[in-house]
Amino acid sequence: MVSFRREKFVPFGGPYGGDGGDGGSVILVAEPHQRTLASFKGRKFIAAQNGGPGGNKKMSGKKGEDRYAPVPAGTVVYEKKGDEKVILADLAVEGDKVVVARGGKGGWGNIHFATPTRQVPEIAKPGKLGEERELILELKLIADVGIIGKPNAGKSTLVSIATKAKPKIAAYPFTTIEPVLGVVDVGWGVFTIAEIPGLIEGAHVGRGLGREFLRHAERTKLFIHLIDGSSSEPEKDWLQVNQEIKLYSRDMAEKEQILVVNKIDILQVKENLPGIKKRLKGDGKEIYFISAATGEGVKELMAYIAKRLNELANIVKEEEKPLKVFRPVPVDTKETLTE
Ligand code: GDP
Ligand code: MG
Repeated sequence: MVSFRREKFVPFGGPYGGDGGDGGSVILVAEPHQRTLASFKGRKFIAAQNGGPGGNKKMSGKKGEDRYAPVPAGTVVYEKKGDEKVILADLAVEGDKVVVARGGKGGWGNIHFATPTRQVPEIAKPGKLGEERELILELKLIADVGIIGKPNAGKSTLVSIATKAKPKIAAYPFTTIEPVLGVVDVGWGVFTIAEIPGLIEGAHVGRGLGREFLRHAERTKLFIHLIDGSSSEPEKDWLQVNQEIKLYSRDMAEKEQILVVNKIDILQVKENLPGIKKRLKGDGKEIYFISAATGEGVKELMAYIAKRLNELANIVKEEEKPLKVFRPVPVDTKETLTE
């Protein structure tokens, strides 16, 4: 503000205009009880409060309030730059936050501009505009265990029988906004499990939806590789899915897999079991046999997974640090406030 002190007994009162208030910042924060990004659907604009104008009598304007927008843990924040997207933050853990748009700086009132030779400064310095950013938010599924396998292997059925989640069997309308994630309780331990649906040929080159789904599997600690025992070539199915994963990401290909043959309730599958065993046993791994439909063998499988997750947690505890959070440095106020 530009103003001058005018009072009866104060001749030459001098400049009296106060500073403008800083604008608030927009901050994304990972909060408990946030499970999805549904609240951002169709949302166009999130703004923090403006700073208040400077006033007479050297009064500074009010600082604008920051705006906190809650997101679920596992949200990855990108800035959209043309066709590119640049990662700003990975809000992996509850409490993680990132300032995505810094508030503007309030201007300087004319009280700052009086000098011995310029006693009637009719100038004020305008404030700086706040930042504006276009963001892309992605929710990475953070399940402990991902179920991979060809379509119809029984992945959805297994999730529904092992947890209280109610995925649609067969036609699975997967969206990145509402991933289906179930909680398995084995009595002495709890873990989360999620179906990685639609792993189809060509997934790694972005054909179909496979790539989208795989992206969500990156952080699982291990995979259940579910094989349809009633398939004409279970071994081929198994190799094909592995090949897809390898082409997508080497890291994911190295992730531990538990081999599980499903649908052993079917008579023909039962009869073929010795043959399936022999062919899959090729890499010397233990194989579990279940029926997701009747529940046979599921309890044992889940107990084994809980045990294995405990072991893995002990191994990685030391080396695995939480993902870094991007915290922009504060604005250099000096630059803003000098003429
Ligand atoms: P997804 O595509 O891997 O998710 O497979 P779904 O869970 O949707 O199952 C595909 C089909 O296989 C459905 O018709 C299920 O009812 C059936 N199915 C799943 N598990 C079993 C099982 O253990 N035994 C039998 N007989 N059928 C099963
Ligand atoms: Mg399914």
